[in-house]
Amino acid sequence: TVRTRFAPSPTGKVHIGNIRAAIYNQLFARHEGGVFTLRIEDTDRERSTPEAIEYLFDVLQWLGLDSDETPLYQSQRREAHLDAARRLEQDGTVYRHAKGEGGEALLFRIPWRADEIPGVEELGPAERALHPDHPVRLDHTGIRYSAVSRKGKPVDTTACLAGFADLRLFDANGQRLFSIGEHIEGILEGRHSFEIDNAARMTFTRRSIGFDDEVRGRLTKPLDDLKDFVLVRSDGSPVFHLANICDDLHQRITHIIRGEDHVENTFRHLFLYHALGARPPAYAHLPMIVNAQGKPYSKRDGDAFVGDFREKGVLPEALYNYLALLGWSPGGDREKLDRESMVKEFSLDRVQASPARVDLNKLAWLNGEYLREKPHEEVLAGCRSALTKRGLEPADPDRLRDIVMLFGDRFRTVDEFAEQAAFFFTDEFETDEKAARKHLAAPHGPEVLDAIRERFAALDPFEASRIQDTLRHLAEERGEGFGKIMTPLRVAISGQKGGPDLAETAALLGRDTVLRRIGRAAA
Ligand code: GLU
Repeated sequence: TVRTRFAPSPTGKVHIGNIRAAIYNQLFARHEGGVFTLRIEDTDRERSTPEAIEYLFDVLQWLGLDSDETPLYQSQRREAHLDAARRLEQDGTVYRHAKGEGGEALLFRIPWRADEIPGVEELGPAERALHPDHPVRLDHTGIRYSAVSRKGKPVDTTACLAGFADLRLFDANGQRLFSIGEHIEGILEGRHSFEIDNAARMTFTRRSIGFDDEVRGRLTKPLDDLKDFVLVRSDGSPVFHLANICDDLHQRITHIIRGEDHVENTFRHLFLYHALGARPPAYAHLPMIVNAQGKPYSKRDGDAFVGDFREKGVLPEALYNYLALLGWSPGGDREKLDRESMVKEFSLDRVQASPARVDLNKLAWLNGEYLREKPHEEVLAGCRSALTKRGLEPADPDRLRDIVMLFGDRFRTVDEFAEQAAFFFTDEFETDEKAARKHLAAPHGPEVLDAIRERFAALDPFEASRIQDTLRHLAEERGEGFGKIMTPLRVAISGQKGGPDLAETAALLGRDTVLRRIGRAAA
């Protein structure tokens, strides 16, 4: 059965890019009738605090991304990771290397006989000219060579020979001096090292390692671009590569769905799987999510952490839906899908390989769609808490209900409601300065407001239909368009030049408040 995992490093904030990976892991597992599991990669002691982990669980639960199995804590598997490193050391795949004063690190050797490894392919021959006055050195420390180019520059001095099917050195007359293939055992075992001082040219067949990514197709990397890498630090702690693949094996993960920032790691991991005698899982690397300029989406571009959205009252089903469709499409132009449909239709081959652009406006729209489906009580409760978060006192339930009804479909998130409706709950609302300069300017503004104040004072009862009539009459008497009367009033009582029905707004605010604000604006 298919088994996927979400493997976050809990650092206190959960970026929407990471959550999107979790969502794809869950959708894929559900679609395949498999298991979606969670692994907490908490080996970074400083950043993985209990609070950070609790926060992570909280966020996952909020989004319905709970693990189907008991989550695995990576920090508790340290011995298993070190065991694996010890096994590899016995095989000779891992070697010790003194690093600084701290002691010895364990390095993974990109294997010389790479052609036995699935995924390794020949890239074809390459040739380099060498400086005839500089010797070429070959030794066994990770099977390295050093050489100098004709221009006197070092040639790939750190490159691992695993990248080459064979390496031959020739003198200036084209005479073969050396083939590493004939000496490799000796070099490997440290019995021999060589210094060849009249080499003019080297030839080699380059190799690459690759895999078929479910999203991005075939991905390859020349082996001579890969260096031996640390598996266990000199302080004895296993590094990410080791822990990550040991745990994926332990959890019997069949499909790894994660961000494309891990592609480079995957090339190394393929060697590790092979060294541990295991078959690598299938991989799907997800494209980055980016801002309008195509740069990685960060908090400078707007809300970027799941917590930001939750704080603002974005509904979890809207965020889930939005992130699922950020880079995946079920076909057609459907934007709103419930979770069941997403599970039914999800497939990795419909995940796009190009970066996905974040559009918070679309998220807000989608949230509005979900919000309209909510029971009224729930919407009211959301609006109430959004107001409270803004430090506003949300009135009694009936009044709040009337205000929410008045705004109707104007708000797409409860936070937008709290922003738009703030003027109902405080005299200290924000004013659109430009609108105020234009519509409250003397002489017209104060004059109209005074006229309105006079009539409103005499209006009894102070209710919407009568307010409407009053404003209409005033416009007629003054021979002015309705807007010339309405807009100053609206700016005076709400700070904005647009909004819900003005007469209803004034009625709901109540005569005292309206007169007070008109007085203030006309002054
Ligand atoms: N802890 C790693 C991360 O958050 C895990 C990557 C993976 O999915 O393998 O980037």
